[in-house]
Amino acid sequence: MRLSRFHLATLKEVPADAEIASHRLMLRTGMIRKLAAGIYTWLPLGLRVLRKVEAIVREEMNRAGAQEVLASMVVPAELWQESGRYNKYGPELLRLKDRHQRDFVLGPTHEEVVTDLVRRDIKSYRQLPLNLYQIQTKFRDEIRPRFGVMRGREFLMKDSYSFHLDDADLEREYQNMRATYSRIFQRIGVDFRIVRADTGAIGGDRSEEFQVLAQSGEDQLAVSDSSDYAANIEVAETRPTGTRAAANSTLEKVATPTQKTCEEVAALLEIPLDTTLKLIVVRAREGAPGDRKLVGLALRGDHTLNAVKAAKHPRVAAPLTLATEEEIRAVFGTEPGFLGPVGANVPVVADHAAAALADFVCGANEAGFHLTGANWGRDAADPETADLRNVVEGDPSPGGKGKLRLVRGIEVGQIFQNGPLYTKALGVTVLDEGGREITPTAGCYGIGVTRTVGAVIEQCHDDAGIIWPEAIAPWRVAICMINPKNDATVSAAAESLYADLGAKGIDVVLDDRGLRPGAMFADIELIGIPHRIVVSERGLKAGTFEYRARRDTESRQLSREEVFELLG
Ligand code: ATP
Ligand code: MG
Repeated sequence: MRLSRFHLATLKEVPADAEIASHRLMLRTGMIRKLAAGIYTWLPLGLRVLRKVEAIVREEMNRAGAQEVLASMVVPAELWQESGRYNKYGPELLRLKDRHQRDFVLGPTHEEVVTDLVRRDIKSYRQLPLNLYQIQTKFRDEIRPRFGVMRGREFLMKDSYSFHLDDADLEREYQNMRATYSRIFQRIGVDFRIVRADTGAIGGDRSEEFQVLAQSGEDQLAVSDSSDYAANIEVAETRPTGTRAAANSTLEKVATPTQKTCEEVAALLEIPLDTTLKLIVVRAREGAPGDRKLVGLALRGDHTLNAVKAAKHPRVAAPLTLATEEEIRAVFGTEPGFLGPVGANVPVVADHAAAALADFVCGANEAGFHLTGANWGRDAADPETADLRNVVEGDPSPGGKGKLRLVRGIEVGQIFQNGPLYTKALGVTVLDEGGREITPTAGCYGIGVTRTVGAVIEQCHDDAGIIWPEAIAPWRVAICMINPKNDATVSAAAESLYADLGAKGIDVVLDDRGLRPGAMFADIELIGIPHRIVVSERGLKAGTFEYRARRDTESRQLSREEVFELLG
């Protein structure tokens, strides 16, 4: 490619709403242009990178034995009604009607579509196992699209779905996909971690995420400092804390006229935050024991509620829904901010750490007052206990070895064992060897292809711009010519080098735009080309080219042979 003919659309200024490096750099280099919130056009430079990521994903999926299909992104609503997700999925699911007033959705994920395909086509155990994948546009009407393609509304996903006769075979394919994903991200050249994950809206039994470690990541991960335990904070477990100390203090009511949070109360009373207790009141699961409408979740003042864990508790409604102020007034006779377990008129579930407190401070269930010296078993009934909180830095690592560290990550992929969730809902059956009808078990596996491009930039950039890993750079090599107009030998040498590198199958771009060296080098650094070769009058006289890797700080003089050796 000659840069003079290429639509390179770099920008000097980027919009202020581009908060993170990858978003800014993708706009500045002209990889993408915004069309609407969370919706982007990929320009030639960006598309070169995206296609390379796609190619790696496709090659590795094929190598793993999966077969490519391409489904429509427009999906009949009936399929989503059949699986029960049409109503469950919420406003992220874009619903639309055709001219006959038939309901459709834009697919945010394709379990239903592929399970339906299998329902129609697969009849016998001989046709299983089967793993079908596609690289296809998804739409999720995200409430807060941001960070460019990282959290778009429209994005490219590689999604695959595997079907099996039994769980052992599903586990084998899950491990096959786990290894395939590892190879994909290794080949792309990005530093990642596999972490335990929640199954979220996809559902199922077991799941892991592939996370690119980056400060700007939206996900928090808990990583053990001395074992291989790593989990998304959504599911990172805490261990029950030791036994509770005996009650020492008497229960007293203290005035806290305006102090509603544990922080404010602790500051007023000059006590440590970890001796306070908060009661978070949420909706109870329908049909929960005692059929009460609300349930109180007790946490230590310095801890935060983990919504994913809480919503899995049998007493708690899923998704987690905080009680409204009205509901709280009706049951507690007071306002939020002064609630506590002593005399509470709701069932209470306490996090392990909250249950281990003695002589704690909590709301008095009376506006303007808190209690000090409160104790479980004496002032409030001994609570049911559960793991309800987010882990914090330094918590003991599950598994018993070491402590947890918190780091940030960008989720670029996730693998799930769904089990018979969708095959059952859609009534898929096949005949087994004995001629009996069985329901196949299934897995699903996703990679955010467009998000991966952004995630790589988050990890690979400096002040001058992007530093592409070789495997997905728009071009591996750039040839820059200095003052080609002054000296015909410069353009002749550059042209010949360009032709010969190209003939060797090396992905090379020739910067023949005739820019001043400074401006030309700045562009090549900005767009992150891994190898730069400068052809100048002076170099030619000495019989060399000036070479510099994007990661290097110094240039080197190389002969033509050395250039080929280095890049070949
Ligand atoms: P998130 O938690 O980030 O919203 P998710 O867990 O809902 O993502 P999955 O259903 O697991 O996403 O989708 C598979 C992959 O698709 C994700 O691992 C991610 O890389 C990508 N992805 C999901 N949502 C988006 C989005 N809004 N924009 C870009 N990529 C996305
Ligand atoms: Mg996910």
